Amino acid sequence: MTLSPLSRRRLLGAGAAFAAASLGGCAGLTGGPSIGRVVVVGGGFGGATAARYLKMWGGNIDVTLVERNADFVSCPISNLVLGGHKQMADITRGYDGLKAMGVKVVQGEVTAIDAAGKKVRLAGGGEMPYDRLVVSPGVDFMVDQVGGLQAAMDSGRIAHAWKAGPQTLALRRQIESMADGGVFALSIPKVPYRCPPGPYERACMVASYFKVAKPKSKVLVLDANPEIQSKKALFEKAFDQHYKGMLEYRPNAELKELAGNVAKLEFDDVKADVLNVVPPQRAGDLVRTAGLVNVNSRWVGVTWLTMESTAAPGIHVLGDATFPGPAMPKSGAMANQHAKVAAAAIIQLLRGEAVNPAPLVMNTCYSFVTARDAVHVTSVHQYDATDKTFKTVPGSGGVSAAANQIESRYALSWAENTWADMLAL
Ligand SMILES: Cc1cc2nc3c(=O)[nH]c(=O)nc-3n(C[C@H](O)[C@H](O)[C@H](O)COP(=O)(O)OP(=O)(O)OC[C@H]3O[C@@H](n4cnc5c(N)ncnc54)[C@H](O)[C@@H]3O)c2cc1C
Repeated sequence: MTLSPLSRRRLLGAGAAFAAASLGGCAGLTGGPSIGRVVVVGGGFGGATAARYLKMWGGNIDVTLVERNADFVSCPISNLVLGGHKQMADITRGYDGLKAMGVKVVQGEVTAIDAAGKKVRLAGGGEMPYDRLVVSPGVDFMVDQVGGLQAAMDSGRIAHAWKAGPQTLALRRQIESMADGGVFALSIPKVPYRCPPGPYERACMVASYFKVAKPKSKVLVLDANPEIQSKKALFEKAFDQHYKGMLEYRPNAELKELAGNVAKLEFDDVKADVLNVVPPQRAGDLVRTAGLVNVNSRWVGVTWLTMESTAAPGIHVLGDATFPGPAMPKSGAMANQHAKVAAAAIIQLLRGEAVNPAPLVMNTCYSFVTARDAVHVTSVHQYDATDKTFKTVPGSGGVSAAANQIESRYALSWAENTWADMLAL
């Protein structure tokens, strides 16, 4: 079902509004002694947003963000780089905005969490004490599930490009170097993985490049799932309308093993000139080694009112690493919303106040199907006090009626606005 434009606008604003309102007009107070030290690990969609909102709403809280990379490189819009429609600079942003507002930004790797001692350990030996810890480490890969994958990734022969940065560039170079008439195969793991529509957008973006630059080439989508996992009818239409004869979609095609550039599936072998493997995923290594993974041996269970780990109170886990509520996607938009729930709750807990009992979050995810046209899916999730989880609001959300040009402008604006929101740009 689709909401009227007015209802949608009201709901889209709600995620942030609930939290600011619930801080009782004290948001942004500075001066006076610090009311606590919060360390945030991971400067992606969840962590950077949490650092910004802790400082903006909390004022006199010491906020330190630890991120291994010097810059933020966005996965959203990275498929356009693979298609040659955007450059790496278009998806790369710095942390100066956060520094300017008083967040201490430390480039480094957190190697361990000492939950009892309330401190994190850094590569190089340093330690950082905290009163509350926020961890948004994203995903890491279950490489052992595909024979030969680790060696193929180590040699640089196979790129996943499911974390944006050098991997995106490496895959773009492989696509550019491929001779016309070659085969680009994309292996999609079984759900859950980060960004359900992302692989199908990637297939469209690579095919859009081939159409212009290498028209005899082929895109082969090897999906371990029985069907397209998001915006199904819209992607099916795009495959048929724009890439017929060039793009082939194969469901139930789980990758078992790699032998050179041959993908070994259960009943078939597929040879590709460029093989892009999106590996099966689980919560980032840091939360696993810290003992926070407690759902299906893959994800972190959280208490949704505060985003605290159910394994370790006082440690707030955000984004892709969490075991989601019903129909809650692993997306940058959702990680950004988790961060606002956590930031508001942490400030209230540090002040000795009650946390908001009824948070509301929402998700919007755009996908490009051609260089010109995009589609969206959106959903709204309200906390349910009885079942203690977020549930989708009946009648909210929906998908585009059809791919169109105006949504590609909205998609780029969404990305710019979200990067500005999380990084204080
Ligand atoms: C191709 C693609 C397209 C996508 N498109 C969209 C889209 O259009 N819209 C959308 O909403 N979402 C999209 N996503 C999904 C989105 O990128 C993720 O859901 C989002 O990044 C999750 O945020 P996060 O904070 O959980 O993790 P991340 O954003 O990955 O952030 C994790 C950060 O933690 C850092 N880190 C991890 N461990 C440590 C450590 N031990 N020490 C220090 N730093 C550490 C990492 O370097 C990283 O910067 C897409 C994903 C992909 C792959």
